[in-house]
Amino acid sequence: MADDVYSADRSLYGKLRRRASKLLYRKPAKLTGLARPLLTFSFDDAPQSAATAGADIIEKHGFKATYFISAGIMGEDSHFGPYTTPEQVKDLHIRGHEIACHTFTHIDCGQASGADIAASVDQNQKMIQSLGLPASITFAYPYGDVSPQAKAQLSARYASARALHHGLITTGTDLNQAPAVGIEGADGETLALDWMRRAVATPDSWLVLYTHDVRENPSPWGCTPESLDRLARAAVAMGFEVVTYAEGAGRAGG
Ligand SMILES: [Zn+2]
Repeated sequence: MADDVYSADRSLYGKLRRRASKLLYRKPAKLTGLARPLLTFSFDDAPQSAATAGADIIEKHGFKATYFISAGIMGEDSHFGPYTTPEQVKDLHIRGHEIACHTFTHIDCGQASGADIAASVDQNQKMIQSLGLPASITFAYPYGDVSPQAKAQLSARYASARALHHGLITTGTDLNQAPAVGIEGADGETLALDWMRRAVATPDSWLVLYTHDVRENPSPWGCTPESLDRLARAAVAMGFEVVTYAEGAGRAGG
């Protein structure tokens, strides 16, 4: 579940906070009349391999992806390999991918105060825009951790905020705490395919996939180029309309 070595609050209190958060500051999705199910490929943080091998695979199939960027850690080394540099982030935008917000320094929004979250996302936007990029439209919670104060801040700023609990987005799903499925770990590809089948069987649905590094011998939160390529091929074969997270949020009324 956690998307980094730091582990978010897995206590009962943390669980109850995430559950209580689901009831507050909701932004219900409205998805009707879709000719095909929607699918989003997203990369969190994002390591350089997501911007090189990952983007190459996504583009080869004619798709665009969403990159959730913490600008305060750009270029730094990590357990996913080095993070994307400012130049790479700029290049991803020029190539048509979505550059979205992930807080400035990957803070845990389940623990931080509303004021700290607001300051962090505003600082992230300032740095992203200093690269000549437009303001981000969407957000992903670092570690997937959520709180009512985070939702209150993010609801006003972003069309949608993505968490990490599994599910499809359909009418009524909360766009301020949206589900997603990770292509990560040994069974990541199988799990993603399973959820793609569920989406195809569910009218007017949208599935959001995410991963981190895309390389041979990936971290436990990443996948191989072969896995990503097979999933992209499956997306075509299964008739998905592949959209960025911002496009999907727009279609869902976010
Ligand atoms: Zn992250």
